[in-house]
Amino acid sequence: MTQVQRSDFDRLMVPSYAPAEWVPVRGEGSRVWDQAGKEYIDFAGGIAVNGLGHAHPKLVAALTEQAGKLWHVSNSLTNEPALKLAAQLVESTFAERVFFTNSGAEANEAAFKLARRWAIDNYGADKVEIISFNNSFHGRTLFTVSVGGQAKYSDGFGPKPGGITHLEFNNLDALARQISDRTCAVVLEPIQGEGGVLPVDKAFLQGVRELCNKHNALLIFDEVQSGVGRSGSLYAYMEYGIEPDILSTAKALGGGFPIGAMLTTERIAKHFAVGVHGSTYGGNPLACAVAGAVLDIINTPETLNGVKAKHERFVKGLEAINARHGVFSLVRGMGLLIGAVLGNDFKDRAKDFMTVGARHGVMVLQAGPNVVRLAPSLIIPDADIDEGLARFERAIAEIVGK
Ligand SMILES: *Cc1c(COP(=O)(O)O)cnc(C)c1O
Repeated sequence: MTQVQRSDFDRLMVPSYAPAEWVPVRGEGSRVWDQAGKEYIDFAGGIAVNGLGHAHPKLVAALTEQAGKLWHVSNSLTNEPALKLAAQLVESTFAERVFFTNSGAEANEAAFKLARRWAIDNYGADKVEIISFNNSFHGRTLFTVSVGGQAKYSDGFGPKPGGITHLEFNNLDALARQISDRTCAVVLEPIQGEGGVLPVDKAFLQGVRELCNKHNALLIFDEVQSGVGRSGSLYAYMEYGIEPDILSTAKALGGGFPIGAMLTTERIAKHFAVGVHGSTYGGNPLACAVAGAVLDIINTPETLNGVKAKHERFVKGLEAINARHGVFSLVRGMGLLIGAVLGNDFKDRAKDFMTVGARHGVMVLQAGPNVVRLAPSLIIPDADIDEGLARFERAIAEIVGK
């Protein structure tokens, strides 16, 4: 096949996605070009993945250098990039031990299995309850959709794994009523991403930590979306000053190369003894070499302070647009994970903002039907922010009809 086009998707692919009508072929920094040569400013970041934009020279160098050396050896051997990346993660977080995966869902799958194993080993077979929150998202494996708080993703696949309870997010009374000595873990996203870009309340998070301590339950933070600099700190938990027992990370960790990781402490990690859990590709040299280069750049005051400054620039720009067009009821989020909640007149139309935005040369995301989400590169140039917002305003003017 020499020439492919968007219509081939419908002919060849399982119809589980509905991709846009245009096909991107190249990216550089925060700009992307499609098959027709049209240019887009990227405020979507591959859904919070391309933390350093497209084709960052240091990531291209890390990948190509490793590609000429060693791609894969299996986990019956360790490898240098994996050990270096693990050291970077341990040195810069609460964690003492690391387990590598290929995706966010797998990092959460490892987290939930480890929490169950830890609890059963220490307290017996009854301590298996996992408490999660409505609207949360933890991935698409059967266990992770079942823990996730959106029934539309978990219904219709037959029996679900048991022992999972869903409660209202940010409601400490509900958790205090439910949690017991049979609870093995409480899991939450410090900023609910897919659920609408909703940061957790600090007082709630403090209360969750105390209730977990009281009932010997592990606190798991799913930082697949909020992590790796997105909040303005390396991990969002650092913004709150409250540490988890287990943390999952992925998305921006590889900057576009697939990798995930589960971080934890030594006393918990030891319950994943030899043979208890595994992955063929997890921790492969290519992914780890790229992720090491990602952390070298993102885990610096320069990048992280830049995220906070760019947050202000985006929020000011969105509020100015809103003053002229009145489309949002609220702009929320942290760092470069920003949600613009649509006002009543535009309820459930987030997808239109994506489609019309792309027509005007700017890529944005939705987070549910009612929130326009921005998750751009953490090093997006200010000029690209301004130009992208100008394009977005033209799209909004079209939607509003003026
Ligand atoms: C994207 C996401 C996941 C799933 O990650 P995959 O790499 O798609 O498996 C899990 N949790 C959160 C919070 C996410 O945003």
